[in-house]
Amino acid sequence: MTAQGEDLLAFLESAISLREQRAHALGGQSITVTDHGWTTQLGGGIHLDGGVLHEDEVAHIVLNDPAAVLRRCAADRKLLELHAGSMHSCPAKDETGYLDEWTQFDYAESCPVVRLIAEGYGWTEGER
Ligand SMILES: [Zn+2]
Repeated sequence: MTAQGEDLLAFLESAISLREQRAHALGGQSITVTDHGWTTQLGGGIHLDGGVLHEDEVAHIVLNDPAAVLRRCAADRKLLELHAGSMHSCPAKDETGYLDEWTQFDYAESCPVVRLIAEGYGWTEGER
C-alpha cells in the first residue's frame, strides 16, 4: 500500500475510533427528549435545558446522538471492508468526467468510495 493510501486509512481509523470512543463515553444510547421544553437526557445522565440550547440545536444533537454515531461508524467500517486495501472494481470518473463503472483499483489505491468516506470525516485534498 502506498503512503497516500496508508495515510488515508490511518486517518479514517483514527477518526472513526475517536467518534466511537466519544459515543461509548456517553453510553452509546439514543438521546431521549423528555418534554417539549427540550430537556434532554443523554445516555450517561447529562442534562441540557432549553435555556442553553435552541430547539433546532437540540434536534440536531438528537439526530447525531451516540447511537446514531455508532451506526454511522459501523456502516463506514463495512464500506471500508469492501473498498479499502483490496483489489476491486468501483465506479469512478476519469479526467473527462466519463463514468467508468468498472474501474479497477489495486491494493494500494484509494477508490472514490474510500476518499468520499474520508471527506465525511474531514479529510481534505491538502492532506493527500
Ligand atoms: Zn471501491
